[in-house]
Formats: sequence, C-alpha cells, structure tokens
Amino acid sequence: MDDDNIQKAVRRAADIIAGSSRLVAFTGAGVSADSGIPTFRGPGGIWGSYDERHLELGFFMSRPETAWNTIRKIFYDYTLSVEPNDAHRILASWERSGRLGLVVTQNIDGLHGRAGSKAVAEFHGSCSELVCLACGGRVQATRELVAPSPPRCPCGGLYKPGFTFFGEGIPPEAYAASVDAAEEADACLIIGSTGTVYPAASIPRIVKRRGGLVVEVNPVPSEFTEAVSDAFVPLGAAEAMRRIDAALATRATERP
Ligand SMILES: [Zn+2]
Repeated sequence: MDDDNIQKAVRRAADIIAGSSRLVAFTGAGVSADSGIPTFRGPGGIWGSYDERHLELGFFMSRPETAWNTIRKIFYDYTLSVEPNDAHRILASWERSGRLGLVVTQNIDGLHGRAGSKAVAEFHGSCSELVCLACGGRVQATRELVAPSPPRCPCGGLYKPGFTFFGEGIPPEAYAASVDAAEEADACLIIGSTGTVYPAASIPRIVKRRGGLVVEVNPVPSEFTEAVSDAFVPLGAAEAMRRIDAALATRATERP
C-alpha cells in the first residue's frame, strides 16, 4: 500500500472511531513491540530459545527455581526496563477524554496501566503483580522481589507471576468485563494482534457479529483482516496511532 492509500485507511479508521459512542480496544503483542518487548512466536520469537514447559503450573510447582530463572529472563528483564509508547499513551488519553471505554489486552506487560489507562481487562493476567500460592497475597513486582530463585512471600509461600500459565483458565473478571464490553460496543480497534489465540481473538468478532465496525492496526494482514476489519491500517502501532489521533484532531477542527 502506498502512502496515499495508507492515509485513506487512516482517515477511514478515524471516521469509524469518531462515529463510535462505545469503543473498545483490543491489543496484542504488536502494541508493545514499539516499546522493545520482543514477540513470543514467529521469527526471532522468544520461544525459540526457551522451554515452554517452564510456564506450566505443574512444572512450576515441582521445579520453581528452574521455572523462575526462565520467567525472569523472558518477562521481568524486559517488562521492568521498558516504557509505554505512543500507542499506549494515546489509548490512555482517549480514555480520559471519554472516547474509549475499555482496553482488552492479551499482553501481560502492564504497559497500558503504566501509560495511564484505568479501564484495562488483562485477558491473560499481568506481570505487574506477584501472587503468593500459600496465602493468596498480591504484591507489586519489583526487581528486588523477583531477584531470588524462587521468590517467596513473607509467609514462606511461593510467589507466582500474576499472569496465566499454560493450561490455566482466563481470569474470570477480565473475561466477563471483555465480553460485556464487546457485546455493548459499536466499534472495536484492534492493535497488534494476529487473531490466532482464543478465546481472546473472539472479542473483535463479537463486536462485528453484533453489527459494530472494526478498525485494525497491524503491520501485515492478520486473521482479522479479511474476516472482520472494516478499515485496515498497515503500520506499526505507535505510528498508526499517532496518525489516527492526528486525523481525529483534524476532523474535530473541520467539523466543529
Ligand atoms: Zn504468602
């Protein structure tokens, strides 16, 4: 797509978003790529170098020291050292101005919250908290807390990251909030998700099935593009969001 056509897609995206009164955002790994968080699958993905079994609850319980060594390298070495990017920040500003109702995210990096978003459904939980498997206590994850292998709660219990392990269910509150928002939404903005991980990938499809419009931001076409997207902006998350936000601002001055 040449830049004229990209700009047409940006304007179409802005039209849909401006015309929406109940907008839900749906984000995946691509929204954090511009913050320097590597993707998990695909070429150069993290899983090429590590054993996925380390994120199964059974393995974690039987060999917490080994599992935590992997978890720290894969997650905390990145998430504690990166910052939100313009895509996270613009979504947070849209929430403050009332344009956006809820961010449903597949990401566990906590960057939407750090960018200032308050209404976030973390579909796969979050790195940001540690949960004690003995007393259920939750604490904010810090470098100091995740330094030992394995980290332990003051009660002596084992800390587990607050994200969903392989084989664990979706956190029920996040699931219910996401489905409710999707059923009520009149538009969905997909950013940086390839649409292959279920049940998360059903969220934009719920919006579409109920008559809503779908905007998709992804550098390359995804499972969503042909199936549900009414506007497809083929750019990285931060650049796309800066351009859509600028188009919304222009629109506002043109049509007072
Ligand atoms: Zn405890």
